[in-house]
Amino acid sequence: MTFGQLCELEPGLQDLHTIARMIQDNGSGEAFCANLVWHNLFKPRIYDLVGWGRVEIVKRNWKSGKELEKLGVTVLGQKEEWSYEKGLLDSSEAYDVAYHAIYDQLPNCRDCWCL
Ligand SMILES: [Zn+2]
Repeated sequence: MTFGQLCELEPGLQDLHTIARMIQDNGSGEAFCANLVWHNLFKPRIYDLVGWGRVEIVKRNWKSGKELEKLGVTVLGQKEEWSYEKGLLDSSEAYDVAYHAIYDQLPNCRDCWCL
């Protein structure tokens, strides 16, 4: 499994990779922490795209679709779209591949708490 394969299935991962490459430590602050940037900026977004978080979001969407249906609301698209099929993106291995590909683009930690 490669990061390129995952990006073909989920272009949002490529976007995060591009954003990570744009982040620089300009040295003006007392410290720079790649982990802090990761936890605040990237982790909440990657969680929904790959790994077990993706499973959760599909389940959430499916549930809200079902609830709308009970209220007599028709949601455009086929019901089948709500059903869940396990794919390449839904594993912890996929999360690890994406995590390393994106995290490795961030500048190194400098004088931060985590060193
Ligand atoms: Zn750090």
